[in-house]
Amino acid sequence: MSEKLLTDTEKNVKEAFEKISKAALAAGRDPEDIRLMAVTKTVSPEKINKAIESGCDLLGENKVQELLEKYESYDKSAEIHFIGKLQTNKVKYIVDKVTMIESVDSIRLAEEIENRCAKIDKIMDVLLEVNIAEEDSKSGFSAKEIIAVSEKIKDFPHLRLRGLMTIGRFGAEIEETRQYFKKMSHLLVDIKDKNRDNIYINILSMGMSGDYELAVSEGATIVRIGQGLFGARKYV
Ligand SMILES: *Cc1c(COP(=O)(O)O)cnc(C)c1O
Repeated sequence: MSEKLLTDTEKNVKEAFEKISKAALAAGRDPEDIRLMAVTKTVSPEKINKAIESGCDLLGENKVQELLEKYESYDKSAEIHFIGKLQTNKVKYIVDKVTMIESVDSIRLAEEIENRCAKIDKIMDVLLEVNIAEEDSKSGFSAKEIIAVSEKIKDFPHLRLRGLMTIGRFGAEIEETRQYFKKMSHLLVDIKDKNRDNIYINILSMGMSGDYELAVSEGATIVRIGQGLFGARKYV
C-alpha cells in the first residue's frame, strides 16, 4: 500500500463530508442527519481502516464471502451494513457481524433473518430494497408493493423496519435519477404514515459516487460511496 493511496483516501473522505454538508445546507437540511457509508467491495482493509480513521464510521458490504474474509482486519469502531444481494442460505454467516441489512428484497429473506436473529436473540434493523426504476434485471420490491410488505415485516419480532434503500438505474440521466429519489422520499413518508406506531422508520439509503449530492438534496440519510472514496474498482 503506497502512502499516496492512503493519503488520497483521507482527502476523498474529507471532500465527501464537505460535499454532503454543502448539499444538505443548500436543501435546508442538517448535515448531521446524513451518514456517509464507505462501500468496501474490492478495497483492501488497510484503505478501509484509513477511511475509518478519517472519520467514516459506517461500512457497506455487498458480498458475504468478502465480508467474512476481511471482517477480522477491520477497525471495529465502524458499523457494518449489508447492502448486496443476500442469499437465504448465507444469512447465518452475517447476522452477528452487521447492524443493518439494507437489501431485504423478499419476504422469504425477511423470514430467514427473523429465524437466525431469534437464535442469537438480536433485533436486526432492516431496509426494504426498492426497484424504483422497475428494471427486470434488478432485485427489490416494486414501489406498488412497499406498503403491503412494510406491514408484513411487523410479523417478524426480530426485525425492525428502519426505511428504504435503492440503487436507482445505472446510466440514468440526472433528471430521471432525481425523479427516482423523489419517489423514494414519498414512499418513505407513505410507510411512515401507515405504520404510525413505528418511530424508527427514518432511513433513506440512496445515492452513490456519481449522484450522492443529488440524493442528499432529495432526502437521503445514508449515501453509499465506493469509487468516490477509494478510486476506480479493479476487479481481479
Ligand atoms: C458498489 C455499490 C455502491 C457504491 O458504488 P460506487 O459507484 O462505487 O460509489 C453503492 N451501493 C451498492 C449496493 C453497491 O453495490
